[in-house]
Amino acid sequence: MKPILTALFLSLLLLSSPTLAEPSWFNKGAIYASPNIITSFDRSAFSSIKYKGREVLDVYNMCKKDWYEDNAFLFEATYSDNQTLELQLESKFLNNASAEVAAQRYAKKLGQIPYLFRKGVDSASILLKNCTIGGGSGNIIINTGDAFFLTSMGILEETLLHEAGHAGFDDKYKHDPAWKRAQKKDGQYISWYARDFTEREDLAESMVLFYAVYFRPKSLSEADFDFVLNTMPHRIKYFVKILGLEERKLTY
Ligand SMILES: [Zn+2]
Repeated sequence: MKPILTALFLSLLLLSSPTLAEPSWFNKGAIYASPNIITSFDRSAFSSIKYKGREVLDVYNMCKKDWYEDNAFLFEATYSDNQTLELQLESKFLNNASAEVAAQRYAKKLGQIPYLFRKGVDSASILLKNCTIGGGSGNIIINTGDAFFLTSMGILEETLLHEAGHAGFDDKYKHDPAWKRAQKKDGQYISWYARDFTEREDLAESMVLFYAVYFRPKSLSEADFDFVLNTMPHRIKYFVKILGLEERKLTY
């Protein structure tokens, strides 16, 4: 067949190939894929916490999308995998004793993110706000109102994994030509959020589902597991490579 006819034939074949049904989470986002990707019963690498005093810091308000200065309570959390995280608790906690209760709680939660995915995180800001949890440039912002809401749905851990993607991976990898090639080769997205905000969200969204299919396949239904494998095979290879994992056939 002439090259042009071959190309036409192949594209018709691709157009007619059946596409897998969108999973239930598609229109919500990857964190809704399953509450069992990481659960509240999973082991945490958190080992201890130390109060370091107060310091005026620039803190990002996710509600107002703006920075403000705050005389925060600082804690150092230590993990059994030798990581340390600076926890910055806003002044609304009033005293270091009440700040420490929240610092302990979220230090433990952060320790449930596996080290490979947590190692790029340097700090977490813990704020008594209701707006969404966020992350970027080494920092995760935990707004406790949203954290309680996500806990009630069992998906705080999945959300922290997504934010660890923003905090620890975005700066280093989202402009990587190899990542861009993987996105292009896959040509499909794991959620509407990844599709509509590709530049900002695709890596963090895809990372949650990568963790699920590689480490916790049974946290998804078999159909959803297949959907992930079929939707992002090149992104899966990319994560395997940058995380230094073994390349293997993923099975349910
Ligand atoms: Zn995000």
